[in-house]
Amino acid sequence: MKNYKIAVLKGDGIGPEIVDEAIKVLDAVASKDGFNLEYNEYLLGGAAIDVFDNPCPDETIKGCQNSDAILFGAIGGPKWDNLPKEKRPETGLLKLRKSLGLFANLRPAIIFDELTNASSLKPEVIKGVDLEVVRELTGGIYFGEPRYKDDNKAYNTMIYSRDEIERIAHVAFKEAQKRRKKVTSVDKANVLEVSELWREVVEEVAKNYPDVELEHMYVDNAAMQLVRDPKQFDVILTGNIFGDILSDEASMIVGSIGLLPSASIGGKVGLFEPIHGSAPDIAGQGIANPIATILSAAMMLDYLGEDKSSQRIRNAIKKVLAKGYRTKDLANFDAKEVVTTSEMGTLIAEHAAE
Ligand code: NAD
Repeated sequence: MKNYKIAVLKGDGIGPEIVDEAIKVLDAVASKDGFNLEYNEYLLGGAAIDVFDNPCPDETIKGCQNSDAILFGAIGGPKWDNLPKEKRPETGLLKLRKSLGLFANLRPAIIFDELTNASSLKPEVIKGVDLEVVRELTGGIYFGEPRYKDDNKAYNTMIYSRDEIERIAHVAFKEAQKRRKKVTSVDKANVLEVSELWREVVEEVAKNYPDVELEHMYVDNAAMQLVRDPKQFDVILTGNIFGDILSDEASMIVGSIGLLPSASIGGKVGLFEPIHGSAPDIAGQGIANPIATILSAAMMLDYLGEDKSSQRIRNAIKKVLAKGYRTKDLANFDAKEVVTTSEMGTLIAEHAAE
């Protein structure tokens, strides 16, 4: 029987509650499809600060490096907000991503037909939206040197090398090949030299993927098109800062922050996490929506090559939503019964094992 080693980072706030539900669902499909998942828990964020006085202990990095994939909840909370920057939970997560070389962030935004009313856009605009933002995660203006600030002047440097653009472009084209075979590369090539190079390199990489259509779009237009007609997009390929903004915009089209998964890949081991934070305001109340984490677990199974199981999970979520089960965040959207975090996990696990 195939065995996969999964590093589990539950983190803080609602992290442990939602990760437990994802594990419940993973176990259901693993036993159905005949593979084994071996979980090893490590501490990250506030939970790690409390024990090791370090938001990302070496033991956590080593444990992740020695795994086949990482399932992560969320970190942070008011308890650790006043610590110096290097000790804060967020710093731990950045360190982990950097140490694992996770340069590509994938954020799919899928609309469930049952939840079209939860979006702030009109149902006819969003029905059928199925797009994925592929964001470069470890370069660009957030990391560029030199950077500087005094009282009168400040600057940052937006820098991309050919290698950095090539490797993220390959990720985007490969994703598109698994989807509807279209890449929209987003830049600001009418103003920025760094975007000119981005465009040239993406054009070159595209030659390796003749089955995938490539279009270029300026970032200001992309921001507008995302709310005007999001259905036109399949894969959106973009750099760090544009991707940061566009992926948040794309995620809000879906309706609830509790529904959106993400994957960070590029190194030896992929990391899978919901896009939301640790939601300290609702932690411990059993009302968090576990679906974003369960969908992240499905992305993890795709990454491990267990596509049949990931599809079972996605179908199960659709069925459970179609039957009208909702967690509290979606209680106003065609709910027949409002359920707890744990009940939602159990329902999805049961449907996935059918
Ligand atoms: P948040 O995403 O935690 O919460 C924003 C709002 O969405 C809150 O009202 C919360 O209750 C709600 N929400 C979030 N997830 C939900 C879910 N699954 N079900 C139902 N409702 C949900 O963002 P925030 O409040 O800005 O940050 C809280 C903490 O999380 C901070 O410490 C922040 O630094 C941290 N954070 C961590 C990550 C991460 O671990 N990757 C990401 C973002 C924020």
